[in-house]
Amino acid sequence: MPDLLARHRAVMPNWMALYYNEPIEIVSGKGNRVVDASGTTYLDFFAGILTNMIGYDVPEVREAVERQLATGVVHTSTVYLLRGQVELAEKIAKLSGIKDAKVFFTNSGTEANETALLLATYARKSDQVLAMRQSYHGRSFGAVSVTSNRAWKNNSLSPLNVHFLHGADRHLTQFRGLSDADYIAVCVDDLRHVLSTGVSGDVAALIAEPIQGVGGFTMAPDGLFAAYKEVLDAEGILFISDEVQTGWGRTGSAFFGIQNHGVTPDMMTFAKGLGNGFAVGGVVARGDLMDNLHAVGLATFGGNPISMAAANATLDYVLDHDLQTGAARTGALIIDGLREAAPRLPIVGDIRGKGLMFAVELVDPATGEPSPALAARFMEETRKAGLLAGKGGLYGNVLRMAPPLTLTMEEAAEGLGIIVTALEAINAEVVS
Ligand code: PMP
Repeated sequence: MPDLLARHRAVMPNWMALYYNEPIEIVSGKGNRVVDASGTTYLDFFAGILTNMIGYDVPEVREAVERQLATGVVHTSTVYLLRGQVELAEKIAKLSGIKDAKVFFTNSGTEANETALLLATYARKSDQVLAMRQSYHGRSFGAVSVTSNRAWKNNSLSPLNVHFLHGADRHLTQFRGLSDADYIAVCVDDLRHVLSTGVSGDVAALIAEPIQGVGGFTMAPDGLFAAYKEVLDAEGILFISDEVQTGWGRTGSAFFGIQNHGVTPDMMTFAKGLGNGFAVGGVVARGDLMDNLHAVGLATFGGNPISMAAANATLDYVLDHDLQTGAARTGALIIDGLREAAPRLPIVGDIRGKGLMFAVELVDPATGEPSPALAARFMEETRKAGLLAGKGGLYGNVLRMAPPLTLTMEEAAEGLGIIVTALEAINAEVVS
């Protein structure tokens, strides 16, 4: 029998990304650590790409799911009343800060964004949408259309008329040396230019990630989204915040990423961590926008009782343990530590992040150009040292990390130590 990797290659699409020279199979997990098939334990700084928001084998989540399983109702249909849906929707609507908010549940972030785009284009009777450069919003036709990251875009035809904006690309050479205020002014001018020359008729919405996830944790400076919102409001253009990576206290300083910018969006989309591994996504939107569709609709498994049991237990855990404050503390320890180490490591081009969402950008020290090769080296080094990380960015040179929000201060220090040691080793090789 060939090994699992050979069998994977034979029957899975060749564009499915697999990390590491020797891909690993994770077979168990507890707390903030996972174990692979060879018995190696890893501190998980990627949390299954932000899915295991409160770690692994959490009794509260397991017991909630087991209680639901014991009823015999894994799922029937959302054409019947589902208590778990209503309870979760009430909590999310309240936390969202959106006026008269209503919630629709899906199975993924892609579907959530598709739903938000459907609501927005229908409400505004327009197929014109604004999105951000370097964005990632998912794999379906609509979500790919508003994605601006070549590595993930595929060559699909777009059903939407999309215009991509600056705002999360301060690092580009053309913007170097600009203050935040000047950069924001350039971006707002550009938005106005797009609206006055690049579109025909009304524009439905702007969709944006408060911190770009797949894009490499790039951030809009404070004040940019507020400035955009002013322009959008004047034209009635809706604002959709994609909170798939930034929601649930991840950034430490706000419960949803966009709240860091003092902006209340018309809709937010969410997924990933909410079910702590169980598939759940959704849209929380202004009630009038949500109620506006004139068709009957449901998503067969969207909001199913198992996902709802897991999501209610996960969200309660986050709130009961004030994990947002935890993320601020552990995130600061790591980000401060990385910033302290960076000046002696010429391979480090940038350190950025907020709360438990932080990134290290690696560059060729001779040229300052992005170095995906060094990022690949880092991934192998840290795997050997027992830490799982992620990579991304437009050039694949950004190390992205987002551990479970349950990370302890000791684990934060341990992970920081592994990261800095790996960077030092690679730096020594490259620079000497
Ligand atoms: N939006 C963002 C910001 C994401 O990071 C992702 C997933 N990486 C998605 C949407 C799509 O979510 P899913 O993979 O659950 O469809």
